[in-house]
This record gives sequence, structure tokens and C-alpha cells, in this order.
Amino acid sequence: MTALAVVPSQSSEGELARVFAVQRAAFAAVPMPDRAARLDRLTRLERMIEREADRFAAAIAEDFGVRSKVVMDITETMPVRSAIRHAKRHLRSWMRTRRVGVSAAFLPGRAKIVRQPLGVVGIVAPWNYPVQLLFAPLVGALAAGDRAMLKPSELTPAFAEVAKASVAEFFAEDEVAVVTGGPDVAAEFTCLPFDHLIFTGSTAVGRIVAQAAAKNLTPVTLELGGKSPVIIDESADLKTTAERLVWGKLINSGQTCIAPDYALVPRQMVDALVEAMRTATGKQYPTVAGNPDYASIVSDRHFGRLNGLVADARSKGAKVVELGSGGDAARRIFPPTLLLCVGDDMTVMQEEIFGPVLPIVSYDTIDEAIAYVNGRDRPLALYFFGADRARRETVLRRTISGGVTVNDTLMHISQDDLPFGGVGASGVGHYHGERGFLALSKEKPVFLQSRLSSGAMLYPPYGPFTRRLVGMLSRFG
Ligand code: NAD
Repeated sequence: MTALAVVPSQSSEGELARVFAVQRAAFAAVPMPDRAARLDRLTRLERMIEREADRFAAAIAEDFGVRSKVVMDITETMPVRSAIRHAKRHLRSWMRTRRVGVSAAFLPGRAKIVRQPLGVVGIVAPWNYPVQLLFAPLVGALAAGDRAMLKPSELTPAFAEVAKASVAEFFAEDEVAVVTGGPDVAAEFTCLPFDHLIFTGSTAVGRIVAQAAAKNLTPVTLELGGKSPVIIDESADLKTTAERLVWGKLINSGQTCIAPDYALVPRQMVDALVEAMRTATGKQYPTVAGNPDYASIVSDRHFGRLNGLVADARSKGAKVVELGSGGDAARRIFPPTLLLCVGDDMTVMQEEIFGPVLPIVSYDTIDEAIAYVNGRDRPLALYFFGADRARRETVLRRTISGGVTVNDTLMHISQDDLPFGGVGASGVGHYHGERGFLALSKEKPVFLQSRLSSGAMLYPPYGPFTRRLVGMLSRFG
């Protein structure tokens, strides 16, 4: 472990700039950390997450109200630790310089691609999975040999303080530093001239971040949200579908960027699906109030927003079906809720839900379901349930989304070898695994000229010989 330094909570613009300058200077001193240095940083991150898991879980529970440690382990610490192990295993191959061919006219010159760290990376995280979304991008940064400044969400203040103290204990300020604060600090943070910025959060704030970064021409990875559809095909087994859908929708009470947002269901299967989901919900969450596995909604504002979505849908003709026992407003426990007979005029069909509310949209043909998805912003995730391969392939070919899981929910995010990221309104760029490493590296093309170069034949003055040579070269490519 190296020297520690803590960035004050109320970071002033000057303080942010100071930390940035410290990291820039450290990077300039060691612009290409070797593999051993990167492995050491990844190992320290791994140890930190192992050692601090209980404190992180307690802080997150304090921030949420109810938030189970098992949920944190499944969805946060385990994926980040898996990402670290994966990066350590593949680091040698990721860092390797690639030789590439040169065309005959340039022989005996040689060409290669050098994978070089970019410098200082900014990481802005949301509140819903505070550990994963702060530290998974960091894995790519450390593997790539970058320095990083991290900004957790102000909606998980207890976690932010614990994360700041832990990072300061395991990393020098010039390696990794955590900055805490609200949107004002976040806005200052995203104005720093980072070499790359990874922002995870809402599409609305993503737009602001992209504009701030553009002023410095800072490249961005924007991991945003949106309405992720589930298409249930008539060939789907409803019992299994309902169990997997309930799991993916209700983990963290639906406060998951890739949670199923709404389900497209063959008209004749709607009633059976509702019953299968009631049974599956009852099994997974016999009660929700007082159940340590069922998370609180993060804030009163978010709880009120969900109530508003359901009230708006009800007033416009939706049928509201509560699955299981009621919630507990005092602890911000929102009951699992299905909405039937929904329409486009309802707010719930216009904005990301981010809670345990699932509208069901019935359809008659798969073309209709595909058109429904394609008539909206490109989603972050899409789920297809069904045994029919032809219809599955049709859906895969004709829709575009950040990622897909077939016959389950959420699973594609946990695959270290799959890139993760949105498309269109759901995001820009990818990370995870080698894609995270590459997003935070410069793939630098290098041409090495040899002592003997045919290029000399093309030096001016351009007489008849050069003209004949150029004529020959154009003819033979
Ligand atoms: P948010 O956009 O409100 O906040 C995210 C971060 O942005 C916070 O750290 C906040 O401090 C910061 N921020 C706020 N105002 C800012 C500004 N003006 N300039 C710069 N930064 C600013 O999002 P949230 O409510 O924390 O998270 C929920 C959203 O995040 C949902 O839309 C969800 O889908 C999305 N999300 C996406 C992913 C993904 O991987 N694609 C993962 C989790 C959540």
C-alpha cells in the first residue's frame, strides 16, 4: 500500500483540478506502467473489495433503507472480482504489441499497433449498484495503465464516504482518488480535461456530460438507461419465463439499468402469464414488507415518482395488479405491480420505470412486437423468451439494443468476454473485459521504416521516371 490522501467532501473546483494535476504529473512520470505495476493495482482493488465488502453492504443498506448483502454480493462484488481476475489472467495478451502487415510497396518497412495508456480517466457512477458501477470501469482503467478519479452518487452518501476512505487506504492519490459531492461537484468534475470519461447514469444527465466533455474533446463512454423490452414468444414455457422475469425485474426492486421495463406478450397468453408471475413472485418474495431480500426504493422522490406512474396509468384506464402482499411506504417498499391495458399516452410507457412495476403490452404477431420495439428509442437490453429459433433469429436480426439475453434476464452483463454498452439513447461505447481495456487505451499505429526504402523513388523532382513508376503503381495497385 502506498501513501494516502483524501479529497475533501465539498471539493472545490480548485481541489478537483489539484488532484487531476497530481494524477497527470504521475502519469507523465510513468507513461507506460509495466504489467507488474498494473497487476499490483488490480490486486489491491481485489483486496479492497474483499476486505470492505461488509462495510460497503452496511453503508448501502443505510443509504437505501433495506438492501441485502446477498444482493450486493451477487450483483456487485462477485462481478467486480470476476472482472479483476479476468483482467489479471488476460493482461499479458491485452498489453501485447500487435504486428500488422504492410503492403508490398512499403517493404521492407514494418508496422505495429502499440496499446498505450491514455492518462487520467474520470468515472462517474449512479446509486443503484454503487460498488459495481464505481469499480467495474476502474478495472479497465487499472488494466490499461491509467490513473483514475471516481465520483460516486450523492444518493448513496454513506457508501460514497466508505468508498473514499477505502480507496485512500489502498491507493495513492495519484493512482486512484474518490471525489464526493452532488450534481454541482459532478458538473465541475465532468469539466476536467480527462483523457477519457466513463459516465453511468440517466440519459438526460448523459447529454449534459457529453456536452461538458466535448468542450475539452474528451472522449466519453456513456452508459445510460432506457426502456428495455421483454418479448415473450408463443413458444415460451410460461412457468420458467415467469420465474426468470420476476427475478430480473424484482432484484434491487427493479432499480437496475437492464431490468425488464415492459413485456410484450401474445394476447392469448396474458392471463396465464399474470398467474405464473403471481406464483413466481410468491415463491421468491412471500412478503415484501419486512423482507430483507426486497430492496427499498432509494429515496422519497423516487418512491413518489413510482406512485405517480401507477396513478397516472390507472387514471388513463390501465388495470393495476399487485402481486402478493402490500408494500410499506415508511420504508419505501414498493409492491411488485403489473399494469395491464396500457397505452402510449401513459407516462409509464414513455419513461424508464426503474422500479418493480411491469406494464404488459399484448400483441398478435411477432412483427407487431418488433415494430413496437423499433418505434421507440434503442433500448439498453432486450430479452426474448421462447423455443422457436426462427422467431428468435428474426427478433435478433430486426431489433437493435445494447445487449440481449435469450430465455433469461440480465445474464449478458455478467459475461466478462461480452462488451457491455448501449446504443443510441441508451449509450455510447462499451466496456467490460478487453473492450474496457481498449476503451481506455490508445491503439497507437507505428510504422517503422527500414534503412532501404522504396519511398526515395517518389521524391521530387517528378520527371518521366517517376511518372512511369506512378503509372505502374496505379495499374497494379
Ligand atoms: P443520474 O444521471 O441522476 O446520476 C448519475 C451521476 O451523475 C451521479 O453521480 C450524479 O452526481 C451525476 N450528475 C448529476 N448531475 C450531473 C451533471 N449536471 N453533470 C455531471 N454529472 C452529474 O442517474 P442515477 O439516478 O444515479 O441513475 C439511474 C440512471 O442510470 C437510470 O437511467 C439507469 O438506467 C442508468 N444506469 C445505467 C447503467 C448502465 O450501465 N448503462 C447502469 C446503472 C444505471
